[in-house]
Amino acid sequence: MSLDEFGTSQQGFWPAVVVPTPAHRALAETLSYHSPQALEPGSLVRVPLGSRDVPGVVWSCPAQPPEGLNPAQMRPVASVLPGCPPLNEAWRTLVAFTARYYQRSLGEVAPAALPPQLRDLQPAQWQRRLNKRAKQAAGPQPGAPLATETAPALSPEQQSCLDALATARQPVLLFGATGSGKTEVYLQAAQRLLAQDPGAQVLVMVPEINLTPQLQQRFEARFGAAQVAAMHSGLTPAQRLGNWLAAHLGQARIVLGTRMAVLASLPRLRLIVVDEEHDPSYKSQEGARYSARDLAIYRAQLESRHGPGCQVILGSATPSLETWQASLQGRYLRLNMPSRMGGGQLPALRLLDMARQPKGTVLAPALVAAIAERAARGEQSLLLLNRRGYAPVLACHACGWKSQCPSCSAFRVFHKLDRTLRCHHCGFTERVPRACPDCGNLDITPIGKGTEQLEEQVAALLSGQLRPDGQPLRVARMDADSTRAQGSLEAQLQRMHSGEVDVLVGTQMIAKGHDFRRITLVAALNPDGALFSSDFRAPERLFSLLMQSAGRAGRDGTIATHGAPVSEMWIQTFHPRHPLFEALKAHDYPAFAARELQERQAAAMPPFSFQALVRAEARTQDVAQAFLNAASAAAQRTLAMKPGFEAVMPHIQLYGAVPMTVQRVANVERAQMLVESGSRAALQRFLTAWQDILRQLRSDPAHKGLIRWAIDVDPLTI
Ligand code: ADP
Ligand code: ZN
Ligand code: ZN
Repeated sequence: MSLDEFGTSQQGFWPAVVVPTPAHRALAETLSYHSPQALEPGSLVRVPLGSRDVPGVVWSCPAQPPEGLNPAQMRPVASVLPGCPPLNEAWRTLVAFTARYYQRSLGEVAPAALPPQLRDLQPAQWQRRLNKRAKQAAGPQPGAPLATETAPALSPEQQSCLDALATARQPVLLFGATGSGKTEVYLQAAQRLLAQDPGAQVLVMVPEINLTPQLQQRFEARFGAAQVAAMHSGLTPAQRLGNWLAAHLGQARIVLGTRMAVLASLPRLRLIVVDEEHDPSYKSQEGARYSARDLAIYRAQLESRHGPGCQVILGSATPSLETWQASLQGRYLRLNMPSRMGGGQLPALRLLDMARQPKGTVLAPALVAAIAERAARGEQSLLLLNRRGYAPVLACHACGWKSQCPSCSAFRVFHKLDRTLRCHHCGFTERVPRACPDCGNLDITPIGKGTEQLEEQVAALLSGQLRPDGQPLRVARMDADSTRAQGSLEAQLQRMHSGEVDVLVGTQMIAKGHDFRRITLVAALNPDGALFSSDFRAPERLFSLLMQSAGRAGRDGTIATHGAPVSEMWIQTFHPRHPLFEALKAHDYPAFAARELQERQAAAMPPFSFQALVRAEARTQDVAQAFLNAASAAAQRTLAMKPGFEAVMPHIQLYGAVPMTVQRVANVERAQMLVESGSRAALQRFLTAWQDILRQLRSDPAHKGLIRWAIDVDPLTI
């Protein structure tokens, strides 16, 4: 026993613990506690914080108290969660990297990566959950036969990709047409791995929670339900904890989930699949705004450093330009699967020049005829419109009143079914007024078109047309409104699969992933907006949406009885000669990508530069912008002088503060500032140093009107 300067005894250990901290609170990364025994780094504990008791992760466990703190005042660790192996070093490194790269605190990232129920579980309850898991896991053991369904023989293309995967040492881009059988390659790559290493774990990520049930079924059929654990926000807290434990304890062979799954604890991770890697929903839009795809690449490298190696496969028919560029440079290995399974052809593209149609045409007559003809043969059509509701605006022509949201710089959308005006930004909902609120005019009318109205108009245009069974055609709609109720999405998909519905109208939700067998016609009704958008990623998103949608058609080669081309994609546009459509017509993603990359390079935009956004929110636009501009000035003033930053600052370009596209939401004004650099490393160093400046400014009384600020690294929309 020794006495320190405070005259107290110094026995035991002083674990540094990561506890949940609110965003941008300038708290230390870890808090120190006292423990009579040594605790392994990664142990889950409960510790006192203020008057509460919170879950924490032990980050390190020195035998000396931290310098300058009075050990007598350090509070003891309340409890260690029993029976739980510590989170391993690879996981802790991943979490630390995520926090650092995305400019967040450990206390924001680590707790968010753990199951939410951890907050409320006392050690006794925790023990019960663990016991329950142990019982469930007593069933199938690693090494027991895995497959419950036999794998089909692979096509030559699939086989050569699977062979190439066996020797690939870098990240792999599986560039495969929609319906080319990428999922089967994932399944067999996983199967081969588990045959070699029965204890291995595979992480499979999908962009949307809607797509998890389908993929889950396929993996469960192949590997058995007990081997597969799902991770997404649609699970109950108890399910999330159970599945997290199955992964953390190494019981689940396959973990299947949305972007959050990239931060799951997987002690024996050997393979990561990122399906539809281009999808924007891999980028988190709240909290630490991480890209699950980019973290997957990092994680695979990291796991290889800590263990026997981990492969990462990115799959897409329309890769993100970042990924495509990496494959051109050879940083990723590209494997190609250009042919569709079952001999289904990619649909032929038909461009309808809307300038030649009467003004206000919703569906060109030729398109209506094509839909009717297909329905008469028992085939289905998909109609895409990227706006839900009945009409985006309700207006009074007498006085000019419009359905502006009182709290946002946006119009409230007219929903006819429940006769409401709804703001899609703040959620504010009101009954539609009977008369104009300003002048009393009874004749207020919808302007523009949403999916509800389209459904109504399509039904009218097709009335009198018959199905093969002599019944009238059935039109249905699928979008965020129609699928809000629990179970309604599944029910709607079922109606589509069973052939009950002939024409499905919907938003991009219907374009993704679903394996509809009887669709032979897909139409995009109004895609022009994205051709001339101020967002430089809009063409990339449009191209991939249209390719994905086209991929919904012609998936079944056996419906090839009516002369070629069997399936069609129609596009109603005022710009039929736009190069984007030319590339689409040829199903030529590489040509589209080459042209886009050339433009991006000329303009020094990503992937040829690196970006970050700082967003600020305040009661007034002036306050928000003043904060950002002050932060920019302070950075240029102080960092230019800072030792070691001479080589950084010349690579940093700071733009002025501007209002965000939707400037006001729920009465909060929003502004943003763009930072750009040709060097990722320089941008990282700058942002880390800038954080301190932003934090200091925040507490400056001159900026007291500021509500919050946040950094978004590698933002997807600017
Ligand atoms: P992708 O993921 O590339 O869009 P899928 O994996 O969904 O394509 O495959 C499309 C269809 O082809 C699915 O119905 C799948 O069951 C089937 N399929 C894939 N590979 C094979 C194979 N080797 N033999 C038979 N059918 C296959
Ligand atoms: Zn009016
Ligand atoms: Zn609003």
